Amino acid sequence: MSDGPDVAEFQSEVAQWLAANADRAPRDYGAICPPDQIDQGSAWQRAIRDAGYAGIHWPTEFGGRGLSAEHNGVWMLECARAGVPPVLNMVGLVLTGGAVLRYGTPEQQHRHLLATLNAEHVWCQLFSEPGSGSDLASLSTRAERDGDRYVVNGQKVWCSGGRYSNWGILMARTDPDARNHAGLSFFLCPMDLPGIEIRPLKQMTGESEFDEVFFTDVELPADHLLGPEHGGWGVGMAVLTSERGHIGTAVISLERRLDQMMRLSEGRQLDAPSRQNLMRLVSTGNAYKAMAQRQGPVASTAASLMKLGITQMTFDASMLRGDLAGPDGMLDGPDASGMLAAPGGRIAGGTSEVQRNIIGERLLGLPREPKPESSRKGQEI
Ligand SMILES: Cc1cc2nc3c(=O)[nH]c(=O)nc-3n(C[C@H](O)[C@H](O)[C@H](O)COP(=O)(O)OP(=O)(O)OC[C@H]3O[C@@H](n4cnc5c(N)ncnc54)[C@H](O)[C@@H]3O)c2cc1C
Repeated sequence: MSDGPDVAEFQSEVAQWLAANADRAPRDYGAICPPDQIDQGSAWQRAIRDAGYAGIHWPTEFGGRGLSAEHNGVWMLECARAGVPPVLNMVGLVLTGGAVLRYGTPEQQHRHLLATLNAEHVWCQLFSEPGSGSDLASLSTRAERDGDRYVVNGQKVWCSGGRYSNWGILMARTDPDARNHAGLSFFLCPMDLPGIEIRPLKQMTGESEFDEVFFTDVELPADHLLGPEHGGWGVGMAVLTSERGHIGTAVISLERRLDQMMRLSEGRQLDAPSRQNLMRLVSTGNAYKAMAQRQGPVASTAASLMKLGITQMTFDASMLRGDLAGPDGMLDGPDASGMLAAPGGRIAGGTSEVQRNIIGERLLGLPREPKPESSRKGQEI
């Protein structure tokens, strides 16, 4: 870490900058930039970079500020308070950046890190497949080594922002004979390679933020492998832990949402069950906030606890908002779209059931759940 402002000093500097610049930001879309916000999101990322708030805890040699994870945590907190996205998108600035810093060769670090801070390299995540979501180790997209390249064939799904991204983090099977986890590799994949086809999917919200991505004989240069060949599982798991940790930081925006909800009750006569629901949510929100402060800004297995709690609470909050809106909640508008979007949070980044398994087995030390013979070869993220 280089010399820099202490955390309190940094926090007040950030708060002042956001007060002066928040009106340049796109709406607070959360971790994933929707396709219709990509231009504004990229401009916002460049404004953040110009002001010195991109890559706050990344080394200075890659364009970062060289400060601590606590400084970065303060940036996230103040952005949530200001109601602006802290980065263009989580996949690039949190997942890919973290993975390239940890596993990348010097060439990969120099090629991607600064370009990602500058919104020149925009990233999507190519993990899930139609037959492999929770059971990610069973994925079947193949990357066969052929000299100085891999030939990739297969299909990915639920790829957020695939159509506007020029790079993707890709998990594919490089050793079909090894046991599931052992046969996977992790790649940095240009999205404009011949043989990649991107098809948008439509969601029940009416929006279209996800894509299916098809690979047909795609020739991926071998130096795009990140980490060891057949060692992609370790890279992927580190990425997913960062994802859960990042989702856990939603506690701050949840606090803001709960404030808004308290105001929603102003001037209304709430019935007793709604009042109780509201107070239960506010109390749970405060308990999660306390837990987040204890956990600190570094993602760990405990991130599963936050991810589970926060996404459930976001779901409950959206449903309560819908209840309070009454029949109006069935019409187009923020209450209806909030209710339709809420279930996705409990699925993205590992479902609630999978988080419960992780908490039971890895945090509480409970025995591993018995698996049927057919799925024993699979994994659980
Ligand atoms: C908003 C959103 C954004 C996403 N973005 C991306 C993206 O950019 N890139 C990407 O690759 N993927 C993305 N995904 C996909 C996401 O990672 C998967 O949907 C998720 O991992 C679940 O996989 P699945 O849909 O195949 O469901 P399955 O794994 O088929 O699960 C179906 C049901 O079975 C339950 N289940 C499965 N295994 C167990 C178990 N062992 N114990 C108990 N219950 C179990 C699950 O909890 C779930 O209820 C996104 C999803 C959402 C909702």
